Formats: sequence, C-alpha cells, structure tokens
Amino acid sequence: MAPSMGPRAAFLRPRNASPAAARLYLASGSAHPGGGLPLVLLSGKIAAQLALADCA
Ligand SMILES: Cc1cc2nc3c(=O)[nH]c(=O)nc-3n(C[C@H](O)[C@H](O)[C@H](O)COP(=O)(O)OP(=O)(O)OC[C@H]3O[C@@H](n4cnc5c(N)ncnc54)[C@H](O)[C@@H]3O)c2cc1C
Repeated sequence: MAPSMGPRAAFLRPRNASPAAARLYLASGSAHPGGGLPLVLLSGKIAAQLALADCA
C-alpha cells in the first residue's frame, strides 16, 4: 500500500503547524490528517485552532 494511503499516513504528512516558519499553518489534503473532504475540513479546523491559540 502506498505510504500516502496506509493507516499511518496521517502521521507522515506535514504537520499543521509548520516547523519551517513561526505562525505558518498548513491545511489541505496534503497536510495532516490527509485527503478526502472530511479530513481536509478537519485539517482546516486544526490549523485555525493553532492560529487562534497563537493569538491568545
Ligand atoms: C477524482 C477525485 C474524486 C474524489 N472524490 C472524493 C469524494 O468522493 N469524497 C471525498 O471526500 N474526497 C474526494 N476526493 C478527494 C478530495 O477532492 C481532496 O481530498 C480535496 O479536494 C483536497 O482539497 P485541497 O483543498 O487540499 O486541494 P484542492 O481541492 O486540489 O484545491 C487546491 C486548489 O489550489 C489551486 N492551486 C493550485 N496551485 C495553485 C497556485 N500556484 N496558485 C493558486 N492556486 C493554486 C487549485 O487550482 C485548486 O483550486 C476526490 C479526489 C479526486 C481527484
């Protein structure tokens, strides 16, 4: 099975808080937790929560 589709794939994708730059957040089918519209929405929710937490 391709790494992008296996049971651990969500943990191999780029994290929602980028280690490359402070306050850079990733949300998409290519970021954690992964592809498919429900997970893309979850990715956006996580990224938004991280951004809000940084603003607090
Ligand atoms: C054939 C097919 C069927 C699918 N069916 C389902 C399904 O039934 N259910 C389900 O849950 N998921 C399905 N998926 C998966 C789902 O479509 C994706 O997981 C989801 O669309 C990913 O969302 P995204 O926002 O990350 O990327 P995308 O939806 O691909 O959005 C990326 C956007 O960025 C734009 N873009 C790219 N590069 C640039 C640039 N340089 N500058 C400006 N804009 C740019 C693109 O034009 C695009 O509009 C399907 C995917 C495919 C390919």
